[in-house]
Amino acid sequence: MTDCIFCKIINKTATASIIHENNNIIVIKDIAPKAPIHLLIIPKKHISSVNQLKLEDKELVGELFLIAKKTARDQRIAETGYRLIFDTGKDAGQTIDHLHLHLLGGKKLPFA
Ligand code: 5GP
Ligand code: ZN
Repeated sequence: MTDCIFCKIINKTATASIIHENNNIIVIKDIAPKAPIHLLIIPKKHISSVNQLKLEDKELVGELFLIAKKTARDQRIAETGYRLIFDTGKDAGQTIDHLHLHLLGGKKLPFA
């Protein structure tokens, strides 16, 4: 999608601090981190939110979690703990309509 910031980052027409990338997924630093480690695990396929997931996406969703696990280990927060979040829709505060999994850690996280 041409007006989607995450598609632009994926296509390298916008910049981001890229932590990891493969054929299906990119991991970037959040531009406004809410924890010492705040990364976004993003499928390269434009899917607007969890609400638009299809059966054909099930492997991709599994890969998002496996990359989250690997990234948590690489960032040395696997043992101290971390939180994974998919904000979905306006009540959850979703601001970017391209599916992304937040990975937060590096401190004791408040509930929210
Ligand atoms: P949401 O609120 O949709 O769940 O999360 C969107 C996240 O994307 C926010 O935490 C926000 O700080 C981050 N974000 C928004 N625009 C950009 C950007 O241009 N680059 C990066 N790296 N993160 C962004
Ligand atoms: Zn997109």
